[in-house]
Amino acid sequence: MSPRILIVGGGLAGLASAVALTDRGFPCTLLESRPRLGGRASSFRDPTSDTEIDNCQHVTLGCCTNFRHFCQTTGLADYFQREPALFFVGPEGKTDRFAADPLPAPLHLVRAFARLSYLSWSDKIALARGLKALARPVSAQDESEPFSEWLRRHHQTEATIQRFWLVVLVSALSESLERISVGHARKVFVDAFLAHRDGWYVDIPSVPLEELYGGRLTNWLTSRGTEIRLQTSVEQIEMADDRASGVRLASHEIVSTDELIVALPFFRVLTVLPSSLKSHPDLAGIEQLEPAPISSIHLWFDRPITELRHAVLVDRVCQWVFNRTAIGAGHRPTAESATTENNLDSAHYYQIVISASHHLAGRSKDDILNDVLIELQAIWPATKQAKLLHSRQVTEHRAVFSPVPGVDSLRPTQQSPVANLQLTGDWTQTGWPATMEGAVRSGYLAASNVLRRLGQNDTVLQSNLPTSLLSRWMFGL
Ligand SMILES: Cc1cc2nc3c(=O)[nH]c(=O)nc-3n(C[C@H](O)[C@H](O)[C@H](O)COP(=O)(O)OP(=O)(O)OC[C@H]3O[C@@H](n4cnc5c(N)ncnc54)[C@H](O)[C@@H]3O)c2cc1C
Repeated sequence: MSPRILIVGGGLAGLASAVALTDRGFPCTLLESRPRLGGRASSFRDPTSDTEIDNCQHVTLGCCTNFRHFCQTTGLADYFQREPALFFVGPEGKTDRFAADPLPAPLHLVRAFARLSYLSWSDKIALARGLKALARPVSAQDESEPFSEWLRRHHQTEATIQRFWLVVLVSALSESLERISVGHARKVFVDAFLAHRDGWYVDIPSVPLEELYGGRLTNWLTSRGTEIRLQTSVEQIEMADDRASGVRLASHEIVSTDELIVALPFFRVLTVLPSSLKSHPDLAGIEQLEPAPISSIHLWFDRPITELRHAVLVDRVCQWVFNRTAIGAGHRPTAESATTENNLDSAHYYQIVISASHHLAGRSKDDILNDVLIELQAIWPATKQAKLLHSRQVTEHRAVFSPVPGVDSLRPTQQSPVANLQLTGDWTQTGWPATMEGAVRSGYLAASNVLRRLGQNDTVLQSNLPTSLLSRWMFGL
């Protein structure tokens, strides 16, 4: 008889476990408390525009090999577009195109860095030295200090800190430099820029996240025998004879299982664990994980404000601008919305992302919108003529865990102290920050553990992009 496998949580970690197991002939039952899948990477219906909009623009990088594998396995990869270049808008408003040369890493991006107009030559020399130093293995001193200290110790200029290190890291890790560990910063630069020539590419979904995870992925899973129960909230893990025997739902129903994968966020998971596990030393760190916020501002204008598909804004409150209309997922009106008074059918939809948005706390939405519009007007004068038809602001206060020094020692492995219980989520031990890649890795690792328990030694986790020979030689990577 097939083993019963229960997955609690339909974010990317739970979905990745479900895909890996279903693909190997072990369909599961997945329980999700919300009416939709995707967790922190999901959409919601905006009543004014009558469209599905993402809680926040999600992008992935070329170095995210497991997330790509997950998308390729399930047919979602066709709905991502690779940006051949990045567009950085400097503090003076000049746009720099940043693209790779046909050379092996790390030479592929040398010319792109050299051309950044908002850094002086002495900044660029400091930056090159900083990147070389960061590629070295993390020392004990590095481990204990925040990345801001490391940067000063390695003679990085104020301009490189504000206009380069901060710009890259705040987007990748959603934290300020004072709250980023050296190891996490190193990982971003090694994986995205130094190790392989494809690591830095940004892939953007061309449809709303709901269409990816709600529609297509749901079909992929259910057509292969996996059951998905939405609006099914788990209250407690049930234990019997030192095993997880099932879960108790909010409706009091008990769902029994042979193998249990709990894929909840770190700020939720302790509520469902039995008391014997809550105090287990292996799981004691969960309580100490700290969240960091990400805000997104959705704007619908009556005309284009820029033709760029995306822009990275340097030294501004707004960090990324995504031109959703150009990317393709912007506006999908229904028949009713096309006839409403506030007709957004032909509107131009842009999304602004502000990571590590601690500084926005306590400010009014009008105030924030005002600052955002002033910045956009300064960069793209067409914004002054454009009429703002509609706007939405979303702040996810617990978007990711903060990658503070020492954080990795707080993250448990997927194998819990109970043999048939796996814990998964972007916050578990993956070696990655809180990202879709981290979530998929954790889901794959949990699925591997379950497969091993079922007597199958299948490798689920995908390898990293191979490090180029030159990077190995130059940096010892
Ligand atoms: C605003 C924002 C922007 C981001 N941008 C990016 C980006 O550009 N690129 C990137 O790679 N990553 C990004 N991330 C991070 C990424 O979204 C997360 O790392 C990833 O989605 C986490 O997946 P997860 O499965 O670990 O957790 P979650 O997505 O939190 O999944 C947990 C699931 O469990 C469900 N659940 C909770 N309680 C219960 C219960 N009692 N019973 C049943 N189900 C329950 C939840 O509803 C949820 O669906 C962003 C995150 C946010 C919030």
